[in-house]
Amino acid sequence: MKPHGHPIAELILTVLSQSTNDRNRDVAYLRLRRRFELWEQVRDAPVAEVEEAIRPGGISKVKSVRIQAILRAISERPPEARADDGRWSGSGTELSLDWLPEVSLEQARDYLTALPGVGRKTAACVLLFAYGLHDVPVDTHVSRVGMRLGLLRSGAPFEQLHDQMLALTPPGQELELHVNLLRHGRRTCHARSPECRECALARMCPSRRLFP
Ligand code: SF4
Repeated sequence: MKPHGHPIAELILTVLSQSTNDRNRDVAYLRLRRRFELWEQVRDAPVAEVEEAIRPGGISKVKSVRIQAILRAISERPPEARADDGRWSGSGTELSLDWLPEVSLEQARDYLTALPGVGRKTAACVLLFAYGLHDVPVDTHVSRVGMRLGLLRSGAPFEQLHDQMLALTPPGQELELHVNLLRHGRRTCHARSPECRECALARMCPSRRLFP
C-alpha cells in the first residue's frame, strides 16, 4: 500500500470510522464524496446535508458537526497565518494540508492534534497513510496486541502508547507493523478469547499462559 497523498480525505475518513465498521464507514464516505465535489462544499454546506450524506456511518449528527469544524479550522489556520503571539489569521477560504510534508514531523503532528477532536491516532493515520511519514496509529487492536506481546506498557494512556510504538518501529516499517498488528488483533488475538493455540507468536508471547 503506497501513501495516497490525500491528507484531508484521510482525516475525514478517520472521523467517519469512529464507532462503526469499515463497510459502513466506506459507504458514508462515498456518499459524502458523491454529494459534494469539493471539501470546501462540505465545509460550507448546511450541516443537515452533511449529516444526511454520512448517515450510514452512524452518529452522523456528531460526525457532521466535527467534520465541518475540522474543515473550518484548517481554512482558518494555514501555517503561514500563525502570528508570533500564537493567533491565527487565515483567510477562512483556502482549504489545504498539502504543506504537511514540508514542515517537521513534530510541527505536522502538533498542527493536526490541535484541530477539533483530532487525537494522536487520527494524526498518525494522516501522516502515515497520506505521506508515509514516521508515525504509527495505535487503535484498540494494535494496543491490545502490543500490550499482550509486551511491546507496549499495559494501561499507558494512548498518547504514551503512540510514543512507545514510534520508539520501537524502525523507519520504513511503520505501515507493515501497523497493518500486521491490526490484522493479528482482528483474526487471532481477539479481545475476549484470543486463539493462542493457533497463534504463530505464542512462543514469544508473555501473555500466552493467561489464555488456556
Ligand atoms: S499468544 Fe495469545 S495473547 Fe499472545 S499474541 Fe497470540 S493470541 Fe495474542
